[in-house]
Amino acid sequence: MTQTHGFATRAVHAGRDDLAELGVHAVPIDLSTTYPAVDCALEAARIEEFAAGRQPEGSPIYQRLHNPTVARFEAALAELEGAEAGVAFASGMAAMSACLLAVAAAGKPHVVAVRPLYGGSDHLLGSGLLGTSVTWVDADGVAGAIRPDTGLVVVETPANPTLTELDLAELSRAAGAVPLLADNTFATPVLQRPIEHGASIVLHSATKFLGGHGDVLGGIVACDEAFARRVRQIRVATGGIMHPLAAYLLVRGLSTLPVRVKAAQASAHELALRLREHPAVGEVHYPGLAEGRPGQMSGGGALVAFATPNAAKVVAAVELITPAVSLGSVDTLIQHPSSLTHRVVGEADRHAGGIGEDLLRISVGLEDVEDLWADLAQALDRS
Ligand SMILES: *Cc1c(COP(=O)(O)O)cnc(C)c1O
Repeated sequence: MTQTHGFATRAVHAGRDDLAELGVHAVPIDLSTTYPAVDCALEAARIEEFAAGRQPEGSPIYQRLHNPTVARFEAALAELEGAEAGVAFASGMAAMSACLLAVAAAGKPHVVAVRPLYGGSDHLLGSGLLGTSVTWVDADGVAGAIRPDTGLVVVETPANPTLTELDLAELSRAAGAVPLLADNTFATPVLQRPIEHGASIVLHSATKFLGGHGDVLGGIVACDEAFARRVRQIRVATGGIMHPLAAYLLVRGLSTLPVRVKAAQASAHELALRLREHPAVGEVHYPGLAEGRPGQMSGGGALVAFATPNAAKVVAAVELITPAVSLGSVDTLIQHPSSLTHRVVGEADRHAGGIGEDLLRISVGLEDVEDLWADLAQALDRS
């Protein structure tokens, strides 16, 4: 497989280059927590390499330091994002934590962040739990908020849950020498590759579209090798590495990612159009229908948000759609951001971020679109 292959081809084959040579067809799962080590001097040298965030060839020594199945997922996602390296964690929040700890450890604990962000990221930054401080800004306030101790600019596009798009090329210019971290969980590399638009760090909650079936928790940072070493150092020290079974499911998930995202996107677009016409629905947020878009996303994605006066009743009335947080699964999910995903963000900040009591967010899955519409329409009618 080479870079000249198309995206879908690379999604199927990435992280599997050596399988034929190994004489196997499916990705092997290595569950070892420890590995035989006979040469103490050699092992000592290798432990130092791992502690410095490097990846020496040969025995992984101990699962917290390195795991071959996790390394396959890292290589595959890095390939799809066009990044030098990937570093995988037990969850998206563990990945975000490692990025924050890495910049704070380098003496730059100040973060500039654009709201809205995922509720958990908003909470982690706002609480200062990891010793960082944050300045919240609009996209056009990024340049003015940068200080000598700013270590990171954090953005999410399309944003959660309003699906507002930010212009990454413009943000990367505004960030200047400060690394721009883009949370690409919603778009996935199928629709948007932030590094092509000037971001230096891409973060994913792999729990969502990358896994795609609602049965695996994980996170990953895709970046250059220099920053990868810094977050690997944090991972070795704090123990946030992804479990190898999760990595196996994620490599498998990547192979169907383009097909899943495009099919869900087609239904999401159709539902957004129909929601716009429904009398019980106010504003519909769907990137594919918005005006003046930055043009960095090749489609509108699989999430739709919309306003409706009795939002909680709609959630209670759906029958086929699952009322649940999270997103990116094969089945369609609906949730009320101001009660659930964005509860940990204060009320005033929620409202400033456009997250009202009347907002609902749907993550569209792979069901027949007519069945989804029938369910939504009956729930809206009954509300
Ligand atoms: C879910 C999510 C996260 C957090 O990931 P976890 O895997 O739940 O820790 C971060 N960012 C976005 C956009 C998310 O949707």
